[in-house]
Amino acid sequence: EAKRNDKHGWRAYDPSMTDQRTRESILADLLEHAVEAGQLGVHYQPIVDLATGRTVGVEALARWQHPDFGFLPPSEFVPIAERSNLIHAIGMHVLAEAAGQVRAWQARQHTDPLQLSVNLSPRQLLKHDIVTDVVAVLERTGLSPAHLTLEITETAIVDTERAAPILARFRALGVRIAIDDFGTGYSSLQYLLGLPIDGLKIDRAFVTQLDSTTRGAAVAEAVVRLGQILGLDTVAEGIESPAQVAELQLLGCTSGQGYLFSPPRPAAEIEDSLNLIPPQTVG
Ligand code: C2E
Ligand code: MG
Ligand code: MG
Ligand code: MG
Repeated sequence: EAKRNDKHGWRAYDPSMTDQRTRESILADLLEHAVEAGQLGVHYQPIVDLATGRTVGVEALARWQHPDFGFLPPSEFVPIAERSNLIHAIGMHVLAEAAGQVRAWQARQHTDPLQLSVNLSPRQLLKHDIVTDVVAVLERTGLSPAHLTLEITETAIVDTERAAPILARFRALGVRIAIDDFGTGYSSLQYLLGLPIDGLKIDRAFVTQLDSTTRGAAVAEAVVRLGQILGLDTVAEGIESPAQVAELQLLGCTSGQGYLFSPPRPAAEIEDSLNLIPPQTVG
């Protein structure tokens, strides 16, 4: 197979390109059966209140364990799922499993109910009946809409005219919307004026800069401040050092997540950080 090259017309056969395409189509086929086959799971990463150190929420992250190919990261399969339209089935599977899990954890809490954050890709957001689909899962699992945050990227709201009415319907239901990877997209800041957004997730790229160069720290600080001035919840992503926590606390950033607190892990393995009432023991 050949591919057109800008300057020189047809370029020679490129094995790496073909391998990549073959790999993608193989993975897309495998992914189609992954949900039914029970290969798709969910890991949870605690979201910590930076003022108190308490876990106030969890982000649900899709995990794919294939019996032959092993663990495949979301950075590889989510884009494939997005292109092949499988993202709807996968996204709903993650939402349903996570909502049921968080509901079960909430029943074992003395404190404010745990919040659930779920990622929603651009294609999912623009699916015509996405609001109905999400509501159906909430009703089935009993999770309150007020305890759900949908994380969307700036790419998803580039088409502001299409995104606005969908976000407004979620808002009317009490579901919260956060901008994921804030500051890394190609989007303008104009959407912050008009769209019903509740929070910004400060991308790890900025958090990493907090304790390195002064220039990096200035940009990181400006991103946190912008969220604060707009009255939005600010969640710092990818916190890896106590120095970053100290900086973020000084800036007044609301909450954060990162390997410093915990990587994403299976449900049973993060229960320790949730301060739950022990499960009922019989006899
Ligand atoms: P994201 O939503 O921005 O999720 C945060 C990513 O950062 C996760 O990668 C998490 O494991 C990683 N992370 C968290 N703390 C740290 C840290 O301290 N250091 C470093 N280096 N990384 C950290 P993960 O799980 O591989 O997911 C990658 C991306 O795949 C997600 O980025 C999200 O965009 C997408 N994704 C994952 N699950 C889903 C899903 O169920 N639906 C959709 N639509 N997208 C998903
Ligand atoms: Mg996210
Ligand atoms: Mg993110
Ligand atoms: Mg990210």
